Amino acid sequence: MKRWLMDLLKCPAEDCEGPLDLAVFDSHTMRVNDDDVEEIDEALITCGGCGRWYPVIDRITCMLPDDMRLDEKQRKWEVAFLERWKERIPEEILEKGIPFGISQ
Ligand SMILES: [Zn+2]
Repeated sequence: MKRWLMDLLKCPAEDCEGPLDLAVFDSHTMRVNDDDVEEIDEALITCGGCGRWYPVIDRITCMLPDDMRLDEKQRKWEVAFLERWKERIPEEILEKGIPFGISQ
């Protein structure tokens, strides 16, 4: 995702308008119309309102409602993300993240 998209994103949890925080793990710069645009490859988005976390995986921002994230295939994909970046992801998310962590 492009970094500027952060300004437009909203937490999809019901009744949550919490502030979102972005921790970028991997990104690169693209030249678009003579401007340098930062494209984020992998990042962790956390919501200060409800405490949920969301991944950016392979440039795709995955801000889905809980029931879709708990779907087996989606969940495997997101847990693989946690495994991949576990050195840089807060312990509390790895252990008891919302809606899930690595071991729950
Ligand atoms: Zn939220």
